[in-house]
Amino acid sequence: MKQQMVFASTDSHYATNLEAAPGEVYDPQFEDLVRQMLLRLGEDPEREGLKRTPLRVAKALDFLTGGYGRTVEEVLNDALFEEGCVDETCDEMVVVKDIEFYSMCEHHMLPFFGRAAIGYLPHGKIIGLSKIARVVDVFARRLQVQERLTNQVADALMEALNPLGLGVVMEASHLCMMMRGVQKQNSHTVTSAMRGTFRSVPRTRAEFMELMRR
Ligand code: ZN
Repeated sequence: MKQQMVFASTDSHYATNLEAAPGEVYDPQFEDLVRQMLLRLGEDPEREGLKRTPLRVAKALDFLTGGYGRTVEEVLNDALFEEGCVDETCDEMVVVKDIEFYSMCEHHMLPFFGRAAIGYLPHGKIIGLSKIARVVDVFARRLQVQERLTNQVADALMEALNPLGLGVVMEASHLCMMMRGVQKQNSHTVTSAMRGTFRSVPRTRAEFMELMRR
């Protein structure tokens, strides 16, 4: 009889101050690039509403691409636990779903965002739930394509956990599609990456897909 654990993630994302404090200097070079862009768009960067925009944009972009400065190793730190089953009889699937993520497409630098579900069959190691969401963020907070993001999350968790099998499914809405033309507002892109027994054993993959939908 298989045992199953299904969790819905409630991890909140990194908070940081994206506002402009009075007199604050952040990154003059970066801010000047944004100012140039505003001019190119036909705007007046000196008008009241836009005065601090270059600073805010620089901060926001640094935040949204903060994954470049992070590694999976530092995020996981001590969050791996030795746990139970270590032979081929391991059959307790762990599924974490509804992991919110926000990324930016590398083609248009526009946001895409959605939810990830991750399942694995542990093989001696499990990971704290909130850490899974943080691993997703390490890769999501970069310029990405959804397929690569999905594969990178799968490969990173495979390496860290060495499970018997693992699956990552990501469903996202892409603003670069939604904001252009009609009839694309409700389009979702679904990508998946299967590793180990999630790839080789159809029954295991089917079980994951079933748990994911619940
Ligand atoms: Zn795009």
